[in-house]
Amino acid sequence: MMKSINPYNNETLTEYKPHTKEQVMINIDKAQKVFLAWRETTFAERSRLMTNASNVLKVNKRKYAEIISLEMGKVIKEAEAEVEKCAWVCEYYAEKAEGFLSDETLEMPENKEAKVVYDPLGIILAVMPWNFPFWQVFRFAAPNLMAGNVGILKHASNVPQCALAIEDVFREAGFPEGCFQSLLISSDLVEDIIKHKDVKAATLTGSENAGRIIASQAGDQLKKTVLELGGSDPFIVLKDADIETAAKTAAKSRMVNFGQSCIAAKRFIIEASVYDQFLQLFKKEIKGMKQGEQLDEDAQYACMARRDLAEELYSQVKKSIDMGAEVILEGEKPIKGSAFFKPYILGGISEDMPAYKEELFGPVAVMFKVDGEKEALRIANDTAFGLGASLWTKDKIKAEKMARKIESGAVYINQIVASSPYLPFGGVKNSGYGRELAEMGIKEFVNKKTVSIGE
Ligand code: NAP
Repeated sequence: MMKSINPYNNETLTEYKPHTKEQVMINIDKAQKVFLAWRETTFAERSRLMTNASNVLKVNKRKYAEIISLEMGKVIKEAEAEVEKCAWVCEYYAEKAEGFLSDETLEMPENKEAKVVYDPLGIILAVMPWNFPFWQVFRFAAPNLMAGNVGILKHASNVPQCALAIEDVFREAGFPEGCFQSLLISSDLVEDIIKHKDVKAATLTGSENAGRIIASQAGDQLKKTVLELGGSDPFIVLKDADIETAAKTAAKSRMVNFGQSCIAAKRFIIEASVYDQFLQLFKKEIKGMKQGEQLDEDAQYACMARRDLAEELYSQVKKSIDMGAEVILEGEKPIKGSAFFKPYILGGISEDMPAYKEELFGPVAVMFKVDGEKEALRIANDTAFGLGASLWTKDKIKAEKMARKIESGAVYINQIVASSPYLPFGGVKNSGYGRELAEMGIKEFVNKKTVSIGE
């Protein structure tokens, strides 16, 4: 059985019988039939349905937020904001998709005529994580359905209720049955789906390990992938920055979603002359955050999404401390079998420690004191990942120059790194490839077809 478990108290909320391989194949056939009709619909029709989806999300915000909150452990305020953001991305693509995918006339010599048209590909498989269990899916589904593709979702095994609720949003919005389907399956059926002749491409948001596996399975079938993987984002503060705002934003960035965000700031690289001031403010902010149950309106964090994740994070912390890391803020060892965790701040990090090399996917901040910009950039780039980066200085010209030298998919100057429908999102290095959101996102899974017109 596939269980939906409340990580706060380990209570089983509900359980489902997973789909069998035979059912999955039937669902793919259904998706293909729907695709053949869906690809012929007008943008106006798709836009009408996508606007409906946005309204379904807005009207049922509390209902969906509670499902998210209880199933994966985030606090209700954050879950409500997540549902609102999903409504936003639906509206965004409902309005903009037609413009993004309109034919592009090409400049040609001798009055010849040619253009690029954007055709849908067909069924796209999305393999998604639990951390933003609605947002990660909607930022895939909204552009792809608007482009004329159809979607099948293999969601993380710990969020089956979210998976089914998302399918319901599209059903309630009036999308044809089969346009978006959630399959309740474990990861071992993913390869069979990728191999299916009607499945044209796959996207994964998840760990490096899953990325390597899915990319090689898809590569073997010559099918395109987009990979949104882990991150170990630097948060660089130079001595001329607004230290108070930087420290408050840094704490928010590390603690958002209880630290379980790919674009959370994870490594804090601070110029020596402002290090103590920054650290004092940062520590105070983190210590001041309120823990409570998921549905407590005032709580800023509740628990991690699964018990094994809390234990895994603690083992990375423990190994780093055993290797000599300085404990600046002492958290708490999670009780065995519990998803509770108390935030840690670590300093004195050396290159061989897990806290230096690995992604810390939870509320653990790692501090670096540096002599200047050059050292800041060296540490920022000395990671296998390259997702986002936050850079703080009042000198915007210097900031833009430094931004060009940071190896990441995005640099946010004097701001928290945050995704938005308007901004392309994705990484370099082991953070993956391809882009989601904005115009670039909707163009990942379309056939960019050249049409050259003769006399
Ligand atoms: P994960 O273990 O890779 O799981 C993500 C998804 O991949 C789940 O649906 C999982 O299914 C599936 N999966 C795992 N192994 C697979 C395999 N061998 N074959 C096919 N599917 C497989 O990742 P996670 O630990 O849940 O999520 C956290 C990671 O995601 C972090 O590294 C985080 O940084 C990254 N992330 C990246 C972004 C981004 O946009 N770049 C956004 C959010 C999260 P099961 O649950 O059934 O195992």
